[in-house]
Amino acid sequence: MQVINPANGAVITEIPADTREQVQSKIEKLRKGQGLWADVPVEERLAAILRFGELVSDEIDNLAVILTQETGKPLQQSINEIKGANNRLVHLKANAKKWLVEEVMVDEGATKEHIAYEPLGVVANISAWNFPYNVGYNVFLYALVAGNAVIYKPSEFASLTGLKFRELLWKAGIPANAFECVIGTGEVGQMLLDADLDGYFFTGSYATGRYIATQVAPKLVPMQLELGGKDPLYVMDDVADIKQAAINAAEGAFYNNGQSCCAVERIYVQAGIYDQFVEYFVEEVKAYKIGDPMDKTTFIGPLTRKPQQQVLLDQVQDALLKGAELKHGGFSPEGPGYYFTPTVLTSVTHDMDVMKEESFGPIIGIQKVGNDDEALNLMMDTPYGLTAAVFGTDKDRALALLKQLPVGTAYWNCCDRVSPNVPWSGRKNSGLGSTLSYQGIRAFVQPKAYHLRD
Ligand code: NAD
Repeated sequence: MQVINPANGAVITEIPADTREQVQSKIEKLRKGQGLWADVPVEERLAAILRFGELVSDEIDNLAVILTQETGKPLQQSINEIKGANNRLVHLKANAKKWLVEEVMVDEGATKEHIAYEPLGVVANISAWNFPYNVGYNVFLYALVAGNAVIYKPSEFASLTGLKFRELLWKAGIPANAFECVIGTGEVGQMLLDADLDGYFFTGSYATGRYIATQVAPKLVPMQLELGGKDPLYVMDDVADIKQAAINAAEGAFYNNGQSCCAVERIYVQAGIYDQFVEYFVEEVKAYKIGDPMDKTTFIGPLTRKPQQQVLLDQVQDALLKGAELKHGGFSPEGPGYYFTPTVLTSVTHDMDVMKEESFGPIIGIQKVGNDDEALNLMMDTPYGLTAAVFGTDKDRALALLKQLPVGTAYWNCCDRVSPNVPWSGRKNSGLGSTLSYQGIRAFVQPKAYHLRD
């Protein structure tokens, strides 16, 4: 399988994709090892995971270069991601034992009642490329600490990073028969679906997630799906600082080239401040440095996947045909690499794909709204339910809206943010189940109820 550098289209290297026999033999190895790993005390499993964190920190410069070369993520953002993902280790260190230890519910009387939390077994982690550290750690580190064996399939656009995870986990003391990595496209993902594993944890698009759900359902094993979004941001007219709101909104929309599941994908601004907001927003976007992702000062690099250029062009064309105004960008510049100029559209409506379909790129529509009711109706007008944000000074007013929205995460005066202390979950077409927080620890175990009579 070729690994392509999206900044110039050059082949970085070729790596062998796993065959069906190799996938099967890796799963068999994990089947043999899982019980042994589960018998290791949780403190020791955690210690190995923390050692992995140290090895990642020691090698951060090299790891960031690998990530940037295979995904096009600007180098500084690769460093930020790797450093930021460490908060999962901090969370596990503080919480894993607390949520995995056996609980005594009734300790008096003739019958004692306990809950033991047992690992699921051998679980699959089929993952995405846009934040491989964050979304990978959310699953494979938490699963390993809970005593599962993990078969990890990195995205075909982040395979080198996936192989580094395996190397460093093994080096940190996670046994080779508790963690494995399989390389390849969706075909190799299908091989995992064809196997009888004890849990499936997927991060990726709605289309793939929905398909995976149909394949896993008859197995009757736990399944979690972390899928896409069309995340709205509403800027109220009482916002404290319009310019700062515009800067923050733009960052939420364009960080990692808009290739974040929780990127701001559509913006609604109250009429009284609309023009000024748009002016500051466009000014900010025009100042973004676009270019070589290996340059630490670059903010916008290439898209990771070439076909996405056409998806974005189509969204721009569709919007312009239906009356949108192009304030900036709207095209792929000439030259090598999968670049797309950051794009701002105004006078947009919900008849346009850019306000309805996940863009997953550096493109945003900003729509004028009269009041909170109108904003709420538009924010709700989506099959997705990942995050929603409101900017404004009146907390009660903002919360009144956020409470009504069927989303897994609600932001007031912030956006495009994930924390290990609270659950990460999507509703509707954005997913099923939670990672992170205590829920994300318990996601990788099954309870066993003990009724104990002396
Ligand atoms: P994708 O669905 O194309 O691929 C995800 C993974 O599924 C890859 O490893 C791929 O090889 C595998 N796959 C593809 N077809 C398969 C099949 N038939 N059987 C089994 N596996 C298969 O998604 P992507 O492009 O890697 O990621 C982008 C999407 O992920 C966006 O929609 C984004 O919003 C979403 N995402 C969501 C979260 C979240 O936490 N909610 C986080 C990151 C990304």
